[in-house]
Amino acid sequence: MRLNRHLKHLQRRAPEARVCGNCQACCESLVVSVDEPGGFTKKAGTRCVHQCQTGCDIYDDRPTPCREWSCLWIRGALPDAMRPDKSGLILWESANSRGRLLGTEGVGHPVLMGRVSAPGMERRPKAEKTLRMLNRASVSVCLILSSGQRVFVCADGQTSRVQHYLGDVPMRRNGNRIYIDINYCRTRWPADFGEESE
Ligand code: SF4
Ligand code: SF4
Repeated sequence: MRLNRHLKHLQRRAPEARVCGNCQACCESLVVSVDEPGGFTKKAGTRCVHQCQTGCDIYDDRPTPCREWSCLWIRGALPDAMRPDKSGLILWESANSRGRLLGTEGVGHPVLMGRVSAPGMERRPKAEKTLRMLNRASVSVCLILSSGQRVFVCADGQTSRVQHYLGDVPMRRNGNRIYIDINYCRTRWPADFGEESE
């Protein structure tokens, strides 16, 4: 319940509520595509050319996508101990995560996006704890593993609903986790694999 309340208030929280400190998880793990003068594209799971010991060497002039993006932790929606470099999970709210993920009909509950910061981190106790906390608060997570494969970690009582929502997408269900076929993921979301879309 506490987390639900946090999520509802996300939009009203100042991004400056916290500072990144030593964390550089998003700069290394996520796809960054900057379409502006001096722009660049960075593949998932690779260091950004601007990463430096103290964070970003162009921080004051960082590109628009970097300015506009923020993870849930820095927005104050997750406990201190869940900073992405420590928990292994980078979580964010996609523009349409309030029940309209993937652009078809709604799933009727919040679905966050997430990316595992390094291989196997999703099995670390802190990551497991974070996912359990979200699931108990009726929040599902579409988690991108370091392999590029997507897995839905479904909120309590919502697994069948998410499965129904995914329709004929090739998948494998294991408990409250729905693994999307990795070949389908590679075709549908090539950037998650460090590949260009066709
Ligand atoms: S993942 Fe979050 S806390 Fe870490 S560097 Fe990015 S915005 Fe900062
Ligand atoms: S430009 Fe700076 S803020 Fe943006 S991804 Fe690179 S290091 Fe991170």
